[in-house]
Amino acid sequence: MGNSFKTYLKHTYKDFNFRSVNPPLVRTSTMVFKSMNDLRKLQKKNKKNPRGGYFEYGRQGTSTTHELEKILTNLEEAHYTFLTPTGFGAVFLSLFSILRPGDEIILADPIYSPTRLLSENYLKEFDIEAKFYDPNNLNTIKTRLTKKTKLIYVENPGSNTFEFQDLGSILKIAKKYKIYTAIDNTWGTPYFIKPIKLGFDMSIVSATKYYSGHSDVMGGSLAVSKRIFKKVMEAQNMTGLRLSPDDAYLIMRGIRTLDVRLDKHQENANIVAKFLSKKKNIKVLYPIVKGSKNFKLWKKYYSGSSGLMGIKIKAKNKKFVDKFVNSLSLFGHGYSWGGFESLALHQEIREQGNRKFLNLNKNEYIVRLHIGLEDPVDLINDINKSLKYIK
Ligand SMILES: *Cc1c(COP(=O)(O)O)cnc(C)c1O
Repeated sequence: MGNSFKTYLKHTYKDFNFRSVNPPLVRTSTMVFKSMNDLRKLQKKNKKNPRGGYFEYGRQGTSTTHELEKILTNLEEAHYTFLTPTGFGAVFLSLFSILRPGDEIILADPIYSPTRLLSENYLKEFDIEAKFYDPNNLNTIKTRLTKKTKLIYVENPGSNTFEFQDLGSILKIAKKYKIYTAIDNTWGTPYFIKPIKLGFDMSIVSATKYYSGHSDVMGGSLAVSKRIFKKVMEAQNMTGLRLSPDDAYLIMRGIRTLDVRLDKHQENANIVAKFLSKKKNIKVLYPIVKGSKNFKLWKKYYSGSSGLMGIKIKAKNKKFVDKFVNSLSLFGHGYSWGGFESLALHQEIREQGNRKFLNLNKNEYIVRLHIGLEDPVDLINDINKSLKYIK
């Protein structure tokens, strides 16, 4: 890459034929050749250098999707990056590439809830057993290991509860027992941490979130290490998971400003977190308390923090939490995050899942806040006026 990440994002493409700083949007299913000989020549190149951009048919991608794959591979410092139509498609592809009937998988207890449903319920029907480890006690990984364990699946920080884990220790265990590793890195993105460089085999990012940044497109990426490239490529070929060139173009458009936006999300989130941490009925789930275990583990692996946080609220019952959330006027109430706008959701995790290691007392509730790119003074005023509803 040579130049810094920030500079690279502005110089990913230059074409002197079209005199364009942006790649052309190439939509095609059929790829045409002048002759059978030309087609055979390309097939030979494709076989020798798979995913080198020698496409025979639109399902493999077009030059537009290939351009985004190259950008993401550089950002991740990975061997290669596969694109999927949604972030969850990348989660599915990571599991489908590795797991076969009779295998076992160990996952972080606080993973994204659809990932939990997929591994706990659906995989069972294929005779694949999912076990969960405590993000605050990594010894629980060791106690769940068997000869059948094929994959350790991490999400850092934990979805909604935001526990930071000692990634190096997890990788050490995996290496010792020769187990593949995957991490959902949607929160940090390769701007703040590079999991493949750290030693993970697979790194998942929902491109729907910060890569796009504008809440107008869905996509996913699965960056991989060299040793797992072939397995994932073959699995992707078998699934038909393919990101459309139009969506790839939008994600490329968004990613140019990934650094600028994430720096601002970080700045705003820190201002809001500091304000909230002074309130006595609120505990902020975001790495700002120096000396805390989460702060230390965040600092050890990340160069920054994004705009998503949790707040643990003490309230007499959940109605007061709903009232607080409903009265926020600058925070939309809905799923997804990572766009330009702020969002707030009362996350009823007790009701949602089957969490075994949930550190939540009876009178504690979790609200997820995505801190957007608005003026942070306005966000604080909005939160401040709504806090009176918490009793
Ligand atoms: C949103 C999200 C996903 C799934 O991404 P989609 O693009 O919505 O399919 C996976 N993991 C995490 C942590 C997410 O926030």
